[in-house]
Amino acid sequence: KTHMSERLQKAIANAGVASRRRAEKLIAAGHVTVNGAIVTEMGVKVDSSDTIEVDGVPLSQEKKVYYLLYKPRGVVTTAHDDKGRKTVVDILSDVPERVYPVGRLDYDTSGLLLLTNDGDLANGLMHPSFQIDKTYVARVKGVPTPDALRTLTHGVVLDGRRTRPAKVKVIRTEQAKQYTIVQITIHEGWHHQVKRMFEAVGLPVEKLMREKFAFLDLTSLTAGEYRSLRHEEVHQLY
Ligand code: URA
Repeated sequence: KTHMSERLQKAIANAGVASRRRAEKLIAAGHVTVNGAIVTEMGVKVDSSDTIEVDGVPLSQEKKVYYLLYKPRGVVTTAHDDKGRKTVVDILSDVPERVYPVGRLDYDTSGLLLLTNDGDLANGLMHPSFQIDKTYVARVKGVPTPDALRTLTHGVVLDGRRTRPAKVKVIRTEQAKQYTIVQITIHEGWHHQVKRMFEAVGLPVEKLMREKFAFLDLTSLTAGEYRSLRHEEVHQLY
């Protein structure tokens, strides 16, 4: 616990309750109290002597928990969906702690997703300087040319920035069905990155699944299932 003062939204994010952006929205919407009084303005300084509550729950009350979910397709990777669609947090509704996802998978993407209430770990893992290996299996339309595979491997320019070199492996091509299964390992986590990389080399993604995040994989889970991380796994991520 820090004794230094910090901004309210940062204190909430660091406690693992929400991302910084989401914390700002919670504050603005009147969900947050400091020493019993609702605070709606941004940037209020707090320290460890202050009692901060989000929807009546004190920040310090929750123990740190870590889950690995095999996200199914057709589920949003947010805690709250404006359109009322099912969320990954709904899947973990038996978990008493308030967890939130580390990074994003698209609505129609399945695969490995971490959820935690440990804001320090989540922020660290999502920070661009961390650049964790993420491995995906994509079904792409058509058959990749050697040139397309070379471009993917060396890096694709998306919005003026080049992706770091990726590992790319063709798993198999279904000539008759006109699609190819490709495994790709990337290091950043840009919005729709894998789909945009393939799109950039003329290979629209028809199906996408994340099979690995750092050293973690989906062994023994099926879509919709989750498990706690083991202590060693949490330590290894830190
Ligand atoms: N890249 C994408 O395009 N979509 C995802 O869900 C994850 C990575």
